[in-house]
This record gives sequence, C-alpha cells and structure tokens, in this order.
Amino acid sequence: MLASLRARPVFPNGSRSSNFRRGFCCRAEDQSVSVVTERQNKKKVVIVGSGWAGLGAAHHLCKQGFDVTVLEGGYELGPKTKSLSPDDAGIRGFWYPYRNIFNLVDELGLKPFTSWTKSAQYSEEGLEFARLPFTDRLTSLPLMAAVIDFNNTDTAWRKYDPITAREILKQFGCSERLFRDVFDPLLQVGLFAPAEQCSAAATLGMLYYFVLANQKNFDLVWCRGTVREKIFQPWTESMKIQGCRFLEGRKVTDVVVNEETGCISEVICEKESFKADAFILAVGISTLQEIVQNSAALCGREEFLKVMKLNSTDLLTVKLWLDRKVKIPYSSNVSSGFDGACAWTFFDLSTIYDEYKDSASTIVQADLYHANDLLPLKDEKIVEKVMSWLSRCIKDFENATVVDKEIGRFPKFLTHFFPGSYKYMMRGPTSFPNLYMAGDWIVNRHGSWSQEKSYVTGLEAANRVVDYVGEGAFARIVGVEEDEPHIQSLRSFNRNLYDIRAQLPFSNYFLQ
Ligand SMILES: Cc1cc2nc3c(=O)[nH]c(=O)nc-3n(C[C@H](O)[C@H](O)[C@H](O)COP(=O)(O)OP(=O)(O)OC[C@H]3O[C@@H](n4cnc5c(N)ncnc54)[C@H](O)[C@@H]3O)c2cc1C
Repeated sequence: MLASLRARPVFPNGSRSSNFRRGFCCRAEDQSVSVVTERQNKKKVVIVGSGWAGLGAAHHLCKQGFDVTVLEGGYELGPKTKSLSPDDAGIRGFWYPYRNIFNLVDELGLKPFTSWTKSAQYSEEGLEFARLPFTDRLTSLPLMAAVIDFNNTDTAWRKYDPITAREILKQFGCSERLFRDVFDPLLQVGLFAPAEQCSAAATLGMLYYFVLANQKNFDLVWCRGTVREKIFQPWTESMKIQGCRFLEGRKVTDVVVNEETGCISEVICEKESFKADAFILAVGISTLQEIVQNSAALCGREEFLKVMKLNSTDLLTVKLWLDRKVKIPYSSNVSSGFDGACAWTFFDLSTIYDEYKDSASTIVQADLYHANDLLPLKDEKIVEKVMSWLSRCIKDFENATVVDKEIGRFPKFLTHFFPGSYKYMMRGPTSFPNLYMAGDWIVNRHGSWSQEKSYVTGLEAANRVVDYVGEGAFARIVGVEEDEPHIQSLRSFNRNLYDIRAQLPFSNYFLQ
C-alpha cells in the first residue's frame, strides 16, 4: 500500500488527485521539490540502539517506507587499543530454533555460519556428559512436570518467578551431581548467574526453549567471525540503501514529552535532539537505568521507575594467542566454575573464525559471566587464572605459553533474571502512546530467548509502530515450533486440572 502512495507525486498542499496531471508534467526542479516533500511526508521513527532488537525494528520499518534513524551510543569499554561494541563482546551461538534469524540471514543472502555443532561440558573431573551416571540423568525426569506446568503465560511467570532455580530443581528431586556438574553451569552461562540467584520461571522457559522442546534444539551454529562483521555490517549496508540513517556516537540521555498529546516528541543526545512520530528504545537494562535517572519525563512513569529495581551482572572476555597448537576436542565448551568462580565458556576460535583458520597456533576465547569479582584483577592475574582453568579441562594447555592477549571488561552488561524480577521487567508498549520497548529482557509471549528474542521484540516493536501510525504492513514473525504431541497432551491435561482446582472453595487461599 505504501509503495503505491509513494509512486504518486505528492504536493505541498497535500492534495494528491486534483493536481495529478499537472504534477506528472513537472520540470526537474519541481521533481526535486517533490522528492524532498515526499521524504518530509514519510512518518519518522527514531530507534535507540543497534543490537538485534534495534536493527530488527529498523529492518522492517525501512521496508515499509518509513523515514528511520537509528541512534547508536556505543560502549567506551573494552581494551583501550580497540573500541568494542556489545556484539563484539563474547562469542554468540545460534541455536536450532532461531527461525526468525535464520530467515533473515537467508533474506539478506548471507552465509555467516559454521556447520551444526554440539558443545562439550567440563567439570572438575573432565568431560562431563560422557561420565554422568544414568541414575543421575534419570533424576531430571520429574522436572518435566514443572516444564509442562510452565507455559510462558503471565500466570506461569508470576507463579515460578519468585522461586530460585536451585529450589525448583531440589523440589523436583534433581541429584546433587546432576545439579552441580550440569544444571548449575548451564544456567550460569545461559542466565549469567548462579542457580541460587536465578528465577525458576526464567530457568524453565530457557530450558524448554533450548533443550527440551525438540531433540535438535541444543544443536547450534557459530558466526565465522564477530556478529558485527558477518551479519550486522552487511545488514546495515542493505538498510542504508533503503534510506535508513545510522548515527554513531549518539548516546541518548533524555526524552521530551509533548504535554498536549502526551506523546514523546523528541529524544535528546547531549546537545542534539531528534524529532519523530514514533520511538523505539532497544537498549539494555543498565543503559535504560542511566537514562531514567536523568529524565524527569521517564521518572514520572511507574513502569520506568520499576526498571531501577532490575539488575545486571559483569562480563569478562579473555582472548589468548598461544605459541602452539593445542588439541581442543570441541569448538565450543561450557565449564563448571573452578576455585569458587562462576561457570564459563571457552571456544577454539582457530576452528570457528575464518580469520584464524590457517593459523599455526591456537587462539582461544574464554567468556566469564557473573565475573563481578574478576573484573578488578590485573590482566596478568586473569590470564594466569584462565590458563590454569583451561589446563584443568584439557591437559595440553599446560605446555602452551600465551604470546598475546585481549581482555575485555564489561560491567553491568548481562541481564540478571533474579527471583522476583519479572514484576519489574518492561512490556513492549509503554504508557506513552508512541514509545515502544525492545530487547532480550522485555516481556513477550513468543517463548524465544537471547538473540532470537531480541530480534523478535524488535519486529514486535515495528508492528506496534505500524499499528500506531496506521501505515504499512505488519512484519511476519515465525512462532516457536509447536509443542511435540506428548507435551501438548500433558499441557492440556494440566490446564484442565487448573480449571477444576480453580472451582474448589479456598482455591486462592494458599500461597501458590
Ligand atoms: C558474552 C555474551 C555471550 C552471549 N552468547 C549468546 C549466544 O551464544 N547466543 C545468543 O543467542 N545470545 C547470546 N548472548 C545474548 C545476546 O547477545 C543478547 O541477547 C542480544 O545481543 C541482545 O541484543 P539487544 O539488541 O537486545 O541488546 P544489545 O545488543 O545490548 O544492544 C543495545 C544497543 O544499544 C546501544 N546503546 C547503549 N546505550 C545507548 C544510549 N544511551 N544511546 C544509544 N544507544 C545506546 C548499545 O551500544 C547497543 O548497540 C550473549 C551475550 C553476551 C554478552
């Protein structure tokens, strides 16, 4: 629909039809006037943040003919020699159920990924799954009852969110060893905090999406370079061709409200401001907290004040160049925390990144989550610790020497889904009619996690803009795969039980 509107000349007085013939015969300068007018007539959208969420929204709105500007604040963190952006920090895997991202990559004609791989899991005693006794594995079965009960609705989140992940695993009879060597490290690298500090709702949602919904779900591919280089750069280039503006170094600090309409009229970046018809905030929790703290307009709204109660944890990334080849059996690895530290991941970049394929040495990257206690350490101490932990997983590391290193410290970088946090998390729409939220911490009902969730919330925010402005078509969002038949039957049985229980006297009397 928008395409046909744009094909017609548009006149400054706004009339399209009566002057149509005269417009059609216009001279060259009239044409340029009409191009300018056409741009002025396009609805303007400002998107704050250029991660998966912001780019996802920009992608769809550009295609719908909106005048889109993306403001990117950037991070002044990371090694002093190199400016790191959030998508350069850490290595990102793409799991089998990331259907919207895989569709996007096909649409863009990109081939950024490795082939499908599985990850290894290490504990103090070595490669874990090969050794975990069958009886310990069996103790994970009762947990399926909680997974069936947790159906990602608001009711399910409110029921399970106040409980810790450790508590729910204990309630359902998980063995000490399965918890210590498998679930606890998996949660620490998936939800970026130890199990006693993670919400059971987030745990059940994540476990179901990544592990239990489908046998293939835990298979994943890696980007053959950083996400920025392999996906975001070609993607933003394609959007620039469609007229999208990307402005870097624009740290949004505040918003301005039009008192008459109650809508946001502009966002402020220090001395600059950007007006638009609609706005999307696609930034992480700690960024939004900084903006809220400085913004009288946002401080006046309850949903933004609640964000101040949320939390994020620290990330440490350690990239090491070794003097020799070390044989690492799997490209991607999860390891339990050693010496009381948090679980962490390590990657053989020599087998993942194109750039290092022909290297004579091994390049390994370790990502350490919930690393609040490691960030203050000196680089040398960090390298010493990481090399000793690597050697405990794979003996060959003992013989290798580090010849170069790159260490990134990212305070308050990772969303912390702590027990009880759900009630403070924001939804996609806000109390401002033309301001929408997107990102991996925004509550939605799609059921995806991490990058796929961010991208999906970006598309959802774009759809809200389309709806608000009343122009353009909605983005198609692919749902998560249907539950397998046995899960569908169990969930329907469970729903019926709830309905019966709800009719009993005193059904709301006891703590749920
Ligand atoms: C180490 C690590 C490993 C991970 N591993 C995986 C994985 O294997 N698989 C997976 O799916 N997910 C993984 N994730 C999670 C995934 O990366 C995130 O869920 C996703 O990138 C979040 O995207 P986003 O667009 O919501 O936010 P972000 O990517 O954080 O984007 C926010 C953007 O806003 C910008 N910004 C910040 N402040 C301002 C401001 N004031 N003004 C303007 N712009 C601003 C930032 O620079 C940034 O570009 C990992 C994350 C980390 C940190």
